[in-house]
Amino acid sequence: MLSRFALPMPGGAQGAFRLGGEIRRFRDVGRWGSIFALLILLPAMLLAWIAWDSSRSVESSVDLELRLRADAAVRQVKVDLEGTFDQFEAKIAQRVANGETLLADLGNLSPHLRAAFRFDNAGQLVDPFASSAPARVAAISPRQRQVLDEAVRAGPQAAVGAWRRALVATGATPHANAEARLGLARALTRAGQPAAAEHELEDLYADYADLRHESGVRIGELALLLRAENRFEREPDIGATALMDLVEQISTARWELGQRDAPALVRRALTRLEGHADPEWLARQRSRLNERTSELWWASDLQDELEVLGETRVGLPDQLEYLSALADSPSLWAQLKHGDLYVFSFAVEDILREVSTQAGRIHQLDRDLRALVAESGVRPPDGALAVASLGPTLPTVTVYVVPADPDALARLKSARRTRQLLVVGLAVVLVGMGVVVSARIVGREVESARIKADFAANVSHELRSPITQIRLKAESLQLGLTTDADDAQRHYDAIVTSSERLSRLVDNVLDFAAIERGVKKYQFRPCDLAEIVCTAIEAARPEIAERETTLEVDLRDDLPALWLDREAIGQVVANLLSNALKYGGKGGWLRVSLRAIGSRVELAVADRGIGISRADQDKVFEHFFRSEDPAVRRMKGTGIGLTIVRYIVEAHGGMIGIESAPGQGSVFTVSLPATPPEHS
Ligand code: ADP
Repeated sequence: MLSRFALPMPGGAQGAFRLGGEIRRFRDVGRWGSIFALLILLPAMLLAWIAWDSSRSVESSVDLELRLRADAAVRQVKVDLEGTFDQFEAKIAQRVANGETLLADLGNLSPHLRAAFRFDNAGQLVDPFASSAPARVAAISPRQRQVLDEAVRAGPQAAVGAWRRALVATGATPHANAEARLGLARALTRAGQPAAAEHELEDLYADYADLRHESGVRIGELALLLRAENRFEREPDIGATALMDLVEQISTARWELGQRDAPALVRRALTRLEGHADPEWLARQRSRLNERTSELWWASDLQDELEVLGETRVGLPDQLEYLSALADSPSLWAQLKHGDLYVFSFAVEDILREVSTQAGRIHQLDRDLRALVAESGVRPPDGALAVASLGPTLPTVTVYVVPADPDALARLKSARRTRQLLVVGLAVVLVGMGVVVSARIVGREVESARIKADFAANVSHELRSPITQIRLKAESLQLGLTTDADDAQRHYDAIVTSSERLSRLVDNVLDFAAIERGVKKYQFRPCDLAEIVCTAIEAARPEIAERETTLEVDLRDDLPALWLDREAIGQVVANLLSNALKYGGKGGWLRVSLRAIGSRVELAVADRGIGISRADQDKVFEHFFRSEDPAVRRMKGTGIGLTIVRYIVEAHGGMIGIESAPGQGSVFTVSLPATPPEHS
């Protein structure tokens, strides 16, 4: 093994070795660098780029998300509205299938249905109303009106006579005559002749049943009411039955559009019957009356539209269809040809109110959104997220969904963008830190590999020169090349000195290995440190002489005996002396001193050599450390001498310190306790 190191290296081999090491190191760094770049840095940068890029699209993603929510909300409004009409259609289909009437119980068909009508094949409105009779010409002449007014003004005594005269004066003119007969009947009743009055009313009914009074009431129905009331005064039970019959008759009769007084008759009869008829019957009649009355009023308002609808009955399909053509109408019409033509009228206002309620619910369910219901012609709102027309039922109505608070939306976008950028930034910083930490770890590993390689090179280099010396000197002696006995002695001395250097080096390497592996054992015994120091100095004498170093030794004799491992401490002193000689330079100065300080003994090895910089002073005890100073690099060395010194001193419970300044020299001070380490 040693022979390998003993082989002389060709000139410049050391430089080549170092260069090879540098190249290797460079290659290592390059390899690790590319692995980092490929596996960590590149993916990290790609991720950062993707994240950065996506942060720019965060705005559109917020918009998109809001748009989707708005779409869903507006669709719900549409679905709800369609649901109302789907139910209506289903109920109509059911009634058609069951052969039930389509004109009754409209509230059950749809809450928005105000009226339903049936036209016959001739286009005539037949159910539940009829179109009004054409406007009548003035049926009562001014002369006849004067006579009738005089009768009205006649006092109670003269009333019967006055009305009889009016009767004669009106003659065969139906309206005036009927009015005179009504007046006579009332006067007879008031005059206490109810039977005569009743008789008069029966005649009136027989003659003018279908004639309409100026108020629009049928004379016949009015006569029946008065007769029943008359009877009610005299015989309540019979009168009540007559009134109830009258109510049924009028309620089920076909009313005429525009004639709004039929309900008044029914209402008057029902008021009379209060307390005389079954309350349930009364309530039922009232509710039916209300329903029909409101249907009549609604239909009367839409009379013109109804007439148009009646005319367009030809060629209609057999399924329900909505008529969106009648814009500006308060009614939404639906028609169905089922034998006759059925027409359904929905109140647009009601439907719109429900749509508005549904639209208002959008904001309750999603605070970010707000809905607006607008009819055609109204300017659409800015920044609408979703739009839906309510065709086919309400094609002129559009629902817009807009952001509830555009400022809040802008704030939300900016907050999301900031959050994303922060996350990206944090990720990039973490990756960066990871890269730096990893690079440091790798750098340290590479450095450690380099140091080990350097160490191997340094050891071989260190070994080479004493081995070469020994070999040269021994060969000279062997070949008898020495000139005289003194020369031979010098050769022997040189062989001994080189051997000592060799063995110190090998000791160092072996000790270092043992210390590193944790198997170094110390034998502590009471020793005289001064003696150990003297032995070390003696061993170093040849080198001191060779380097022409001035040696000063100051060993006090009052030193206590210390518990030491003799060999180990000898190695400490030898290493410190060797360094002082090596870095003290040729013709340098070396001082070794020992003194007692309290229970401790302090060994100081001082030189006036190259010194150690402040930064290097912290590192000189580290494994394999060798200063980068070219003055150091010129010297041979392994970088383990001071490491061993520190380990040994610490194993003895001692301390080591440096005082040094570049160019001025160094003082290494070892302080050892008197007590054995295990007792300290
Ligand atoms: P080396 O084999 O390099 O001398 P050491 O462990 O003994 O290894 O010393 C470590 C380093 O400490 C040396 O390389 C050198 O830089 C520095 N050093 C040690 N002793 C001295 C000294 N007396 N003067 C200047 N520098 C020193």
